[in-house]
Amino acid sequence: MSATKKTSSSKGKGTARKTRGRKRAVRPASSRAPVPVTRGPQAPRGLLIENEPLSRHTSWRVGGPARRYFEPADREDLIAFVRNLPHGEPLLWLGLGSNLLVRDGGWAGTAISLHNALDGLVEAGALELYAEAGVHCARLAKFAQQRKRAGLGFMAGIPGTVGGALAMNAGAWGDETWPHVAAVEVLYVDGRTAWLDAAEVRYAYRHIELPPGVAGFLGARFSTTPDVDGEHERQTRESLAKRKQTQPVGRPSAGSTFRNPPNDFAARLIESCGLKGRRVGGAEVSTMHANFIITSEGATAADVESLIEQVRTIVREQTGVDLIPEVRVVGEKS
Ligand SMILES: Cc1cc2nc3c(=O)[nH]c(=O)nc-3n(C[C@H](O)[C@H](O)[C@H](O)COP(=O)(O)OP(=O)(O)OC[C@H]3O[C@@H](n4cnc5c(N)ncnc54)[C@H](O)[C@@H]3O)c2cc1C
Repeated sequence: MSATKKTSSSKGKGTARKTRGRKRAVRPASSRAPVPVTRGPQAPRGLLIENEPLSRHTSWRVGGPARRYFEPADREDLIAFVRNLPHGEPLLWLGLGSNLLVRDGGWAGTAISLHNALDGLVEAGALELYAEAGVHCARLAKFAQQRKRAGLGFMAGIPGTVGGALAMNAGAWGDETWPHVAAVEVLYVDGRTAWLDAAEVRYAYRHIELPPGVAGFLGARFSTTPDVDGEHERQTRESLAKRKQTQPVGRPSAGSTFRNPPNDFAARLIESCGLKGRRVGGAEVSTMHANFIITSEGATAADVESLIEQVRTIVREQTGVDLIPEVRVVGEKS
């Protein structure tokens, strides 16, 4: 694919942009005419690229390009960018892409990535913490732990952002995100922002219902409790160590592929059907954890999607249980 790229960075061709203490190269602008993306006079200050391969932004490392890919410079830049988007522009919010399968045909719209931006994290009042949507979950868990706060330890092992955790109601070790949320700041498709009480958002296991008109999350205030005797910190350390022993950490995956059905485990059902190690192209059911699909060099999103379908069909035929994917599958087939 010949990528047509442009950046809105005012620093020009070949310069570098500072990203949380690191210098990050801005890819050179293409000589081809850029597609206009703003209606108003205000050009975005962040990184704006055309035809950006989303395989660079997903943990499975597969997936086609986004027609436009945007990393805002900061919160205001993001708000202005969304406000100026053409009406009806399809938006794909990206955290660390650790729960996303983007099909090989890519995303026919704009992908907005927050993990290099919106990384503010502060104490908010006596026992609340405020995290912007691009903050890594592990960083939030560590921040809480350093302040001797209990409640967010389960986030230590989730390789995603706060925005992704809110959108997925991510959870681990019997806990999940939304019971710890006091309030969320949302961005509406028309560029308005608002704080919503957690009670205004309906959630279930690995699922939430976005209130009407909401485009995405800007951040959240989390409630914590005092970790008086360090018990929460000890449990977090133990659970993290266990995770390393039972999951193929370090191999490209999206964590658990399927939600656990009521009173059972997807991994147990998949393993009982003899599917560990089953392959389609470069995608494989992990031999270490049957609910993980891992990819190797050269894998395509079609390989992963086809393996997901095969596993689902075989488990349904052999056990009667219809496994529901936990991973979000988006984009166009090629
Ligand atoms: C090794 C491994 C282990 C994992 N373990 C766990 C686990 O224990 N528990 C668990 O729940 N998950 C786990 N996951 C899956 C994944 O990390 C979580 O679902 C995580 O919350 C996704 O966060 P993300 O930032 O990567 O989101 P993405 O994958 O980038 O996005 C996921 C969804 O959230 C949406 N989204 C992202 N940011 C925003 C935003 N700001 N506003 C609105 N929508 C947004 C996206 O559009 C997409 O629909 C694991 C994944 C891996 C690779």
